[in-house]
Amino acid sequence: MAQALLSLKGSLTLCSTCFNVSDSDPCSICRDPRRDHSLICIVERPPDVPAVERTSRFTGLYHVLHGALNPARGIGPDDLRIRELLTRLRGDEVKEVILATNPNVEGEATALYIRQAVMPLGIRVTRLARGLPYGADLEYADDITLSQAIEARQSF
Ligand SMILES: [Zn+2]
Repeated sequence: MAQALLSLKGSLTLCSTCFNVSDSDPCSICRDPRRDHSLICIVERPPDVPAVERTSRFTGLYHVLHGALNPARGIGPDDLRIRELLTRLRGDEVKEVILATNPNVEGEATALYIRQAVMPLGIRVTRLARGLPYGADLEYADDITLSQAIEARQSF
């Protein structure tokens, strides 16, 4: 899919560090010395990057997997940018990775797989907190979301 996107817009390329779609390699985020290069947020798809950027709460770098594990559809670790991630983590001064894969079965499986692979490197692994979407009514929350919100409760 990324390739199809690239052929549509000739000026776009993939950053060879984070694999986000960019007009330069390395991309402007990877090049930015003001960003925290010890922190990497792992996302499934390029559009997830601007979504996190919009929050203005994250100042680290990204790693775009280009998908999620899905054995039923034959998508395994080698189909994602996981090997590139591990190479990057071995070579860089990374202290923490934030797993920001989607909160669904494939995203969870991907997060668990990466956690297993990253832990031996001695790098801190965190996961986005899950819970109720902002503005949601408790009454209409599904059981899984509400259960996770209770599990991830914080001191108040
Ligand atoms: Zn980049």
